[in-house]
Parts: sequence; C-alpha cells; structure tokens
Amino acid sequence: MSIQENYQSIKNQLPEGVQLVAVSKTHPAPAIQEVYDLGQKVFGENKVQELMEKSPILPQDIQWHLIGHLQTNKVKYIAPFIDTIQSVDSEKLLADINKEAGKNNRTIKVLLQVKIAAEDTKFGLEISEAKNLFQEYREGKFPNVEITGLMGMATFTDDEEQVKKEFLTLKGLFDELNQLKTIKTLSMGMSDDFPLAIECGANSVRVGSAIFGRRDYSK
Ligand SMILES: *Cc1c(COP(=O)(O)O)cnc(C)c1O
Repeated sequence: MSIQENYQSIKNQLPEGVQLVAVSKTHPAPAIQEVYDLGQKVFGENKVQELMEKSPILPQDIQWHLIGHLQTNKVKYIAPFIDTIQSVDSEKLLADINKEAGKNNRTIKVLLQVKIAAEDTKFGLEISEAKNLFQEYREGKFPNVEITGLMGMATFTDDEEQVKKEFLTLKGLFDELNQLKTIKTLSMGMSDDFPLAIECGANSVRVGSAIFGRRDYSK
C-alpha cells in the first residue's frame, strides 16, 4: 500500500478524540511532506539531530513531538520550537527542559515517560518517581513546563494479556494523577498495538511503520 493508503487506513481506525502522532524517524522529508499534505500536523521523531535536519525544510506549522530518549545537553537545540517532549524520564531532564523553556520565554509541553514494560531495556520513570515529579510540578517547581500527560511503551511481545496489563497500569496512574490536576494525554500504542492501547484508554497513539513502511536502518 502507498503512504496515502496507509495513512487513511490508520485514520479510519482511530475513534474520534484519539490523536495520531505520525512517527517519521528514519524517513526523509519528502515522505513527511506527503503525509502533511494529507492533513497531518503532528509528527514524532526520536533523535535530536535528525529532527534538527528535517524541521527547517518542512512546513513551520508542524507540531514536532520528541519521543526518544533525550540527553540533557541537547535540550537547548530543540527548546525554541519543540511542541511536546514525550520522553521525560528523569527529574534532571525535566529541570533542564524547564530552564531552557524559560530562556526561550515559552512553556514546553511534556509527557512523563513511565516504565511499564517487564523488560528493563526501556527508559522511563518508575511509577513512584512519576508521582513524585508530578507532585513537585503541582507545587510549582517547573513553571515553564506543562505536564500534559503520560507516555508508555509496552513489552515487545505477542502476549496480549501482558501488553494489556501494562497499558492498564499506565491508565490507572493517569486516572490517579488526573484527579490531582487535570492532564489530557495518555500516549500509548504503536503500529502493532495501538488498537489494544485505545481499548485500554489511550487517547494519543504513536504510529510509524504502519504509515511510512518499514524502517531501513542500513541507509
Ligand atoms: C519508533 C517509535 C514508535 C513507532 O513505532 P512503529 O512500530 O513504527 O509504529 C512509537 N513510539 C516510540 C517511542 C518509538 O521510538
């Protein structure tokens, strides 16, 4: 299927109110432009350098989301324009984003990335750490960031029950924090598991290969 067909097919599978973040990592600017021309405005990249190469040559009203691990020393490069940083996985990183946002006279939206997968290869905050950070945020410690929600990645497995359990864990935390202060976004689900994620309460999904095709890392 073409990129257009893929995109329409994904859009047709998303209930109203579920945001699509089109994950364009490793794909060239013309492919992104193609999806943009179909009406997509929100794109996700996982590497700062790649984002810095692509963003200047693409439409300026694209809302870029950073979805990959972010080193604190790279925050300054994206702080002027990034829409949302989905991958906040430490207090240090949140503090640095807050600082750089302040320097740019703006507020940067962030999601707390929570570790829900059984495998320990993935970045993310423990649930207790996420709660603590959210508490500090509510107390006004990070005035130049807005925590708009949570992001999580499930274990890479065919075991649907396992994945579902992990998604529901994050939904539980989302509901808990949302009682304390309204947050909007629950970002979970990728090409292979987004329908299940939505069933479990996701209202934002990050879909890459099901739109753009397989990623070729050899290039
Ligand atoms: C690459 C990536 C995705 C998209 O993965 P696909 O399987 O291609 O849909 C989603 N979230 C994160 C954090 C990613 O790194």
